[in-house]
Amino acid sequence: MNQMKRRQIFERLSQAIPDPTTELKYTTPFELLIAVVLSAQATDKSVNKATEKLFAVANTPEKILALGEEGLKRYIRHIGLYNTKARNIIALCRQLLDRHGGEVPRRREALESLPGVGRKTANVVLNTAFGEPTIAVDTHIFRVCNRTGLAPGKNVRQVEDKLNRHTPVAYKKDAHHLLILHGRYVCTARRPKCDRCVIDDLCEYPHKRLPQPDGGRERTDG
Ligand code: SF4
Repeated sequence: MNQMKRRQIFERLSQAIPDPTTELKYTTPFELLIAVVLSAQATDKSVNKATEKLFAVANTPEKILALGEEGLKRYIRHIGLYNTKARNIIALCRQLLDRHGGEVPRRREALESLPGVGRKTANVVLNTAFGEPTIAVDTHIFRVCNRTGLAPGKNVRQVEDKLNRHTPVAYKKDAHHLLILHGRYVCTARRPKCDRCVIDDLCEYPHKRLPQPDGGRERTDG
């Protein structure tokens, strides 16, 4: 895919998604970090439901440590992998207090050294909490980038590296949320909604559902 097409894709997505941001609810970098850790293999909706109650009573490392692992589990037990997540969050809170004065660090290496925090979570926090032009690649973005030809790759790191190389500077800060929201609501895993996609003429996915001469829609799910 050439750069002109890439720019057009981001231009159109920006017009279609005027407020590209996370659907996780948070008010501080710490709340965002906890929400992102909880969101692994879980829906944002389920995380928001849990954090609404959790953050009302504990939204700092000190307060979560005061809850303890079992106390924390009571708030997050409807989220997948909650046992591991609770253990990680308690260890993460301790580390934030021991090494970072209770603040969420703004450096990738420091973030990635926290329990339960990998490259994707670090990228989301750097981008969403601190406005850095990092592009986290999740399952939605991986799919969109491979289907469209925007940044094809065999694994998430390849896709991330290509996005970093080829995304026009003006769109780097919003690229993550533009692509994730497009993937979540339009370029869905099953039955992508090509018939109402704003980049259908730019997308290079060979199986996209194209308009039919009779006005109907071909239904191929590829
Ligand atoms: S045309 Fe279809 S496959 Fe291509 S980006 Fe849009 S929804 Fe996805």
